[in-house]
This record gives sequence, structure tokens and C-alpha cells, in this order.
Amino acid sequence: RVSAAAGSELLAVDGLSMHFALGRGWLGKGGKTLRAVDDVSFTIKPGETLGLVGESGCGKSTLGRSVLRLLDPTAGSIRFEGTDITRLSQRELRPLRRRMQIVFQDPYGSLNPRISVRSTLAEALRVHGLVKSAGEEADRLAALLTRVGLRPEAMHRYPHEFSGGQRQRIGIARALAVEPRFIVADEAVSALDVSIQAQIVNLLMDLQDDLGLSYLFIAHDLKVVEHVSHHVAVMYLGRIVEQLPKEKLEHDARHPYTQALRSAVPELDPHKRRLRILLHGDVPSPVDPPSGCAFHPRCPIMQRGLCDVTRPSLRELAPGHHVACHLAG
Ligand code: SF4
Repeated sequence: RVSAAAGSELLAVDGLSMHFALGRGWLGKGGKTLRAVDDVSFTIKPGETLGLVGESGCGKSTLGRSVLRLLDPTAGSIRFEGTDITRLSQRELRPLRRRMQIVFQDPYGSLNPRISVRSTLAEALRVHGLVKSAGEEADRLAALLTRVGLRPEAMHRYPHEFSGGQRQRIGIARALAVEPRFIVADEAVSALDVSIQAQIVNLLMDLQDDLGLSYLFIAHDLKVVEHVSHHVAVMYLGRIVEQLPKEKLEHDARHPYTQALRSAVPELDPHKRRLRILLHGDVPSPVDPPSGCAFHPRCPIMQRGLCDVTRPSLRELAPGHHVACHLAG
């Protein structure tokens, strides 16, 4: 288990699970449980980014929402700035809300098309009592839009008047408006063209440098995650199967799933071309996960009698490097 003891961490997540009960049968029996997130632990320090990577449906977005308490976790604990927020009521959470923000994948879906950019951003300022006059509000919004690479005049326009990349800048401005310390970026660049992705990623990294922000950066694209993160956590069927410093990804990743994801990243340098490890089959259902190691039906080095029977626990291979695989060493 990755230690989540209180310390210099901004966020410490310990043993977090998020289970959903699915339709119960006769007399309430026979219902199944979807284990979207299962016993996950990690920490994030101030000014650092933890990249969370995995195929769609592995539970990473549910995890992102759970740590912000947009969902109520089934088990485990979340400490933010030293405060245990796991069981706080929504009222008790309110003062902390502005310190923890989220940027969504689809900025168009998360921006009301009928509301101008100014109203969208001003609402966040007003809810948290951050401005005292209309003049102060206009000044702050102009500075905010400039900060995310838009012109101040953009505040008078509506979401449909912007491109996908510009809308994502507005989504980032909305998150920044309330001066957060921590942002969950949930597939924040996944829907954008590659060149626009790079611009938004660079913006997020600049903001981190300037403001000391911490990110939980969620994506299915390991290349992007590798670029922005200090540490990377690889998720499979609701569990973290490997967590390691970003620098170790290229040569020291030990979990076969991490190695397969890594081998799928296109390498432009012909001297570095690597063998692609093909994963067969789809991700199994988290309602009926495979026995033993959940990855065993797709694992190229699976050992029968061990991997299909006993679930590997997450163990520390080196400082900051944890892996859940019987054969990794
Ligand atoms: Fe593969 Fe076995 Fe390791 Fe799971 S525990 S990743 S099945 S080798």
C-alpha cells in the first residue's frame, strides 16, 4: 500500500473505495456490486501533479470525483490540507470547495450555452464572496481571461462562439477564479486536437509554476500523462496496479499492464523504437472481476495457479515505486 500518512501532502487518500449496489433481486437479495474504485491510496504534494492513467471504464473519473467529495466514498479516507474531509457535510465542505476544483473533458457540456462567459465566471466569484463591486469583478475577470490566454473582451461572448481549445481555457478560468490549490483535470485535453492539447497542457503547467497548484491529471493517453506529471499511477479495474516517478516510466515500469500501455505510445526516434505489446480482449467488467490478479486474462506472462488464484498486493519495489504483480521484481 502507498503510504498516505499526514505530512507535507496537500492531498492524502487512504484505502478509498467507491462501490455501487446494482439492482437487487427477490427480497433484496442477489444484487451485485460494482467496485468502481477499490482500496486506492496515494498522496499529492503542493505544486505536484499525479497522473492517473488507464483505459476508459477503469474507475479513474469516479476516483477523481470521489476525492473532491462530489461522490461519497464507500470506504477509506481523504485528507485535504491536513483536514479529514471524508465525512464532512456539504455545508462543512463549502469553505474548502473553492480550494479544490475540477476541469472537465467537455467544456461545452459543462458551460451553459445561454450564459455569457462573464456570468459564468462571475457566479463563482460571487458564491464565494470574492468581489465587493462590479468594477472589482470586471477587473478580476479581465485578469483571469488574460491569464488563460484569452482577450478580456471574451467575457461578453457565449460558449458557442469559441473553439474547443478556447472553451477549455474558459473552463480553466472558471476553476482558477476561486483561487484553488488543487485541481482535478478529468480528461481535460482528451477531446482536443493534438496541437491544441499541447497548448492547454502547457497552460496548465505554466499555471502550476506560477501559482503552485497541484493536479490530479486524469487521462487515458500515457504520452500526455507522462509529459505533465511528477508521478504516475496506473489504474486497472478500480485499483492502482503501479505507481512510480515519471522518470522511471520509460525503463523501470514493472507491471505488464504499464509496459503494454507504454509500448503503445508512438516513438518518433527510430533508435528508440520498441516492440509493441498487444493486449487481447476488452477490460473485464468491474461487476464480475476476474479471480486473483484482475489483469490475468490479458497478461502475456500470467502464471496459472498463482495469478488466477491470488490477488497481488501493492508492494514497494523502490522508494516511490509500487507495483501489484506477483512476478515483478
Ligand atoms: Fe500478470 Fe500475474 Fe503480474 Fe497479474 S500478477 S500482472 S497476471 S504476472
